[in-house]
Amino acid sequence: MRIPVITTILLLSAGSLFAQAHGSKSAQQIDQIINPAAVEKIEKTLSSDDMQGRATFTPGIEKAAEFIESQFRQAGLKTLNGAGSYRQPFTMLATTPVSATATIDGQQLGADRIVVVSAATHIQADDHSGFEKAFIKAGASFGPVVLKYIKAKKNTLVLVDSSFAKTFPRLARFTRQQFKSDNTVIFLLTSTDPASYSITAEQQVTEKDLANIVGVLPGKSKKEEYVIFSGHYDHLGSGKPDAKGDSIYNGANDDASGTTAVIMLANYFAKKKDNERTLVFATFTAEEIGEFGSEYFSNQFDPEKVMAMFNIEMIGTESKWGTNSAYITGFERTDMGKILEKNLAGSGFNFYPDPYPQENLFYRSDNATLAKQGVPAHTISTSKMDSEKYYHTAGDEIGTLDMKNMAAIIRSIAISSKSIVDGKDTPTRVDTKELR
Ligand SMILES: [Zn+2]
Repeated sequence: MRIPVITTILLLSAGSLFAQAHGSKSAQQIDQIINPAAVEKIEKTLSSDDMQGRATFTPGIEKAAEFIESQFRQAGLKTLNGAGSYRQPFTMLATTPVSATATIDGQQLGADRIVVVSAATHIQADDHSGFEKAFIKAGASFGPVVLKYIKAKKNTLVLVDSSFAKTFPRLARFTRQQFKSDNTVIFLLTSTDPASYSITAEQQVTEKDLANIVGVLPGKSKKEEYVIFSGHYDHLGSGKPDAKGDSIYNGANDDASGTTAVIMLANYFAKKKDNERTLVFATFTAEEIGEFGSEYFSNQFDPEKVMAMFNIEMIGTESKWGTNSAYITGFERTDMGKILEKNLAGSGFNFYPDPYPQENLFYRSDNATLAKQGVPAHTISTSKMDSEKYYHTAGDEIGTLDMKNMAAIIRSIAISSKSIVDGKDTPTRVDTKELR
């Protein structure tokens, strides 16, 4: 999970409980595919030291990508839209500033008061260049406003009030990785609204390739209606050794657990072979550095054709309610949670609304891009955001996870999604006017 968000959902494990609700034959079948031993096998590989914490742009994540591809191949998934492989490649840019100068109303601004977000190597702008002028006034909520201007796809000069002098340098992070864009956004730290300005900047621009791993089970009848199961397979890589000398951030919970769930669900539905809607199994790269993988993936879909997204993030530990429970971010924004509950009735497993609303988890995970376009896209999680001991530490290892409970959660996701996968239930859409 990216530093600020998530959702959790947990369900029950005992086969007997599912047997009550779903008949002992189907309970047996699901247990044969989704069980603690099978979960452990995948989870162990993804969180092994061999993968070096799966940081985006490193050889470690490449090993994870190959492993996920091999799992999708074994399950017999198809590729998305007839692609040549399960890889969904895309390119990002990384820029390194070389120089920047700005003159506003005849006065020179220091380079430390200029941040340029652009794919160009040479940037020149003045009051005749057609840049839209925008302001971040004192007291504004800095982060969301900055994102709004960066994503607006317009040439924009953003004048940032001097009261943000301390936070202004953080804008540099938006130049570290960005999507290719024809637009330039220039941030100046100044409290004046200049009548005339002139800005020149030089930067080095490097292209970096990365890929989501995506597999598909075409629907029997409703092929153009998509149901997405997803999780992110990147994590933080390695850092300073902790007290035990461990420097690898294995990300066993964050989010090898979600990736494991996606693989298990792919195995399950591929064997079941009766999905009326098209199921898409997606594992995303670059979540921890800004959810770039899911943003790219999500924008390849017509949102109207996506009926539901089950994003799965950090399901390796018990939720705050104990085992057999999980939470759903943005629960109240659609009726998807109610549909899942209905399908789980009698199983002993419970989905709850996200108990950490102040964490804004609905906006902080890979469901966000589609949710903002109205898709019932939620994240299912068990992470205790106020006390998850190993969150973003080298201690996030498989030994701290509960395989039995994880298998129960994954089974419950499979069972709870049934009427949506069958095309019998269609969750209501997110009201985008109500989003921040
Ligand atoms: Zn994380």
